[in-house]
Amino acid sequence: MTMTETPMAEQQQQNELNGHKDLNHKSLLQSDALYQYVLETSVYPREHESLKELREMTQNHPRNIMATPPDEGQLIMMLVKLINAKNTMEIGVYTGYSLLSTALALPHDGKKNNMGKYDFVFVDADKNNYLNYHKRVIELVRIGGLIGYDNTLWFGSVAQPPHAPMMDFVKNSRGYVMELNKHLASDERIEICQIPVGDGITLCRRII
Ligand code: CA
Repeated sequence: MTMTETPMAEQQQQNELNGHKDLNHKSLLQSDALYQYVLETSVYPREHESLKELREMTQNHPRNIMATPPDEGQLIMMLVKLINAKNTMEIGVYTGYSLLSTALALPHDGKKNNMGKYDFVFVDADKNNYLNYHKRVIELVRIGGLIGYDNTLWFGSVAQPPHAPMMDFVKNSRGYVMELNKHLASDERIEICQIPVGDGITLCRRII
């Protein structure tokens, strides 16, 4: 199949539309309808009332794009419980959906602020510094502990050519996210799993 060149303006408009679509449903699933199905069937019926309240409070915030999608929150809660995490840390907090998800999944003797050996660290801060965070976080998490890096598919831009039209904030951090992904794949201290939920979350289990 041959790709035909789309006129610049039209391409840009199409890209903006695609971008907006991505920004709205924040999912890599094939359609909005499928994502709605996931939310309505499996996520909303089990969503904690405090999380629901927080999600509804922030959904009209101009920067709501930064909120953790509820299906991703559900995954985090499951992971935190599976590894019996007690000491957790979150780097980069927006209105706190993922932080609250973690807190709700912790046992009563769990702690959010305790320097030492962390069971679970969720990194969702400035993407340009992801590699720097990794250098430190890997030392903080215990062997067998888990790190989650959020937005590692960066609105799908990681698979787009470098000069493809994309929104500025996407373009500006794309290289850093790709660099992190490469680094994680070659870091022998961890096992990794790229999960295409939300905007992509990479789970890293420290093994040495
Ligand atoms: Ca995020």
